[in-house]
Amino acid sequence: MSWGYRKILLIVLIISSLVAYLPLLSEPSRLNIGQFIGLVGLQLIWWQIILGDRQINRLFTDDLFWINKIHKFVGKYGFLIIFFHPILMVLSYELNPLSFSTSTTLDKGILIGKVAFSLLAIIWFASAILRDRLVWRWWKRLHLFGYVILPLLLLHAFKVGSDLKDPGLIRLWVSFLAITYGIALTLRLLDWSGFTKSKYKIVKTSLPAKNVTRFQLIPIGEKIVPRRGQFAYFQAKRFGQAHPFTISHFDKKSGELSFSIKAVGPYSSSLANLKVGEVVFIDGPFGIYTRELEKKHKPSVIIAGGIGITPFIRWLQAKKIDYLFYGARTNEDIAYSKVISSSKAKFYKALSEPSSNEKPAFITARFIEKQIDNLVDYDFYVCGPPVMMNKICEELIARKVPKKQIHTERFSL
Ligand SMILES: Cc1cc2nc3c(=O)[nH]c(=O)nc-3n(C[C@H](O)[C@H](O)[C@H](O)COP(=O)(O)OP(=O)(O)OC[C@H]3O[C@@H](n4cnc5c(N)ncnc54)[C@H](O)[C@@H]3O)c2cc1C
Repeated sequence: MSWGYRKILLIVLIISSLVAYLPLLSEPSRLNIGQFIGLVGLQLIWWQIILGDRQINRLFTDDLFWINKIHKFVGKYGFLIIFFHPILMVLSYELNPLSFSTSTTLDKGILIGKVAFSLLAIIWFASAILRDRLVWRWWKRLHLFGYVILPLLLLHAFKVGSDLKDPGLIRLWVSFLAITYGIALTLRLLDWSGFTKSKYKIVKTSLPAKNVTRFQLIPIGEKIVPRRGQFAYFQAKRFGQAHPFTISHFDKKSGELSFSIKAVGPYSSSLANLKVGEVVFIDGPFGIYTRELEKKHKPSVIIAGGIGITPFIRWLQAKKIDYLFYGARTNEDIAYSKVISSSKAKFYKALSEPSSNEKPAFITARFIEKQIDNLVDYDFYVCGPPVMMNKICEELIARKVPKKQIHTERFSL
């Protein structure tokens, strides 16, 4: 099945899993609506866990940004639905929302539900409201509470849910959710252990630009075959973190691949200590960025900022790029000058902190217009720091370049 159909299949599966609870509304009452919302909420949180598992979602697509969009949408709006569940249940059973009694099984079940709901509210607030103000890794750690919330909600549902007390389709289905949650969790742990990832050995390291380390890796066993512009997760040790990096070079014959990693924070800086001979774990390939370059109709213009050059290196090597506008701080921040000069691309650079006798320059639409006329006749590929990307995209749109001719990749998932 083509990737496009698989994406549609995933959407259909999500929607039909929710529609399956509709029979509960055959006799609409405050209680029945409350129970329906509770089960829909449970189902949505199950989907959040499933969509967070790369081993599972790669069955549907390698477009992790698309998966991420669905994950964000479900997370943001799903909670607003779930919010009505406790309200309706409190009203239906005339419960005291401030009671923390544990004297009966029902009380215990309700308390578990309250704990799960509070955790969910914290994650929702951190993601939907505070996301841009929180340090990325703290937000990520908080997000992992999702793995605790689902079993708590399942426990809550089995203890208090009147629909789950008797054997029937709903009980069977929720049991299926519990089992598949167990499988997803096991896969996630295997992933973390490096077991499900491809093993690669570092054969060479070099410094193509300031604070950038290139790691050349050869496969030990199973190798990945990335298309140009794709990325993979790089994990330096078992039970360690895995971060996404573009595969900047690839040799089809040997399977050798390279990552060019800029030290920007704790993880990327720690990688500079890796030595030749060490084994790392690679999960990929993912991504669809630059896919349009394969069947390009218009001349291609690359706008890269700093380490944002990496998705284009293999395209430059293949001589498929017409124009390259590269913004960096200094000449030492320009990576892979040799690849650039031996490509067929017309190359223009802008240095924001040039040597003393030059003026600072930035890649702007005006800067580009000095080299090419009629921007609407080109396809643009933009990758770099968020501020630069936002500004240049705004400027291109203001100059009537159709959005479908502007392709971007942000280095944050
Ligand atoms: C598709 C993609 C391709 C990338 N390609 C490259 C590349 O070729 N070379 C390169 O140097 N960098 C690349 N990056 C960026 C790289 O992933 C981050 O710089 C790195 O993960 C930062 O981690 P840190 O702990 O060093 O810094 P932090 O200070 O923890 O993070 C800096 C920023 O990086 C992002 N980030 C951090 N961790 C992750 C993560 N696990 N998943 C997604 N985003 C994260 C967040 O936006 C965060 O604010 C790419 C990112 C993405 C999403």
